[in-house]
Amino acid sequence: MTDRTTFELIKEKEAQIEELLDPSTFTLNPKVVELQQDIENLRSECSHEYAVADGACSCKHCGKTIEIVLYKSLTCPQCKIAKMKLDKKNIPYTEEMNMEVFEARGIKGIPQMDIGDKRLTSIRDISKWIDAVEVK
Ligand SMILES: [Zn+2]
Repeated sequence: MTDRTTFELIKEKEAQIEELLDPSTFTLNPKVVELQQDIENLRSECSHEYAVADGACSCKHCGKTIEIVLYKSLTCPQCKIAKMKLDKKNIPYTEEMNMEVFEARGIKGIPQMDIGDKRLTSIRDISKWIDAVEVK
């Protein structure tokens, strides 16, 4: 078991799900639900390491893709650094500069960055994260 990667395990379970899915009925096989839960558990235990390929950023172990949001202003020099680093690695992201959105999402300073459901709140953490992303 230990020599199999998370990625292989997930691929295997996804293949099993595909076999179990019956297009002629909308009834969900309980085994499918179980397999989907297994995949979710594998992903939540994964120590995600992200890589950029084909315009998407995803974990190289479990395949989880993430959305990246950079909270910034036009004039902040640290925001410029974050943006430059993201662009240099071709990491896809969206920029957010709307104060109302900041307030709604609890953003109290910039730059900050959302990596899926995880928030990075300093340029130091943002830089560290970007540096660790692999480019394929
Ligand atoms: Zn992962």
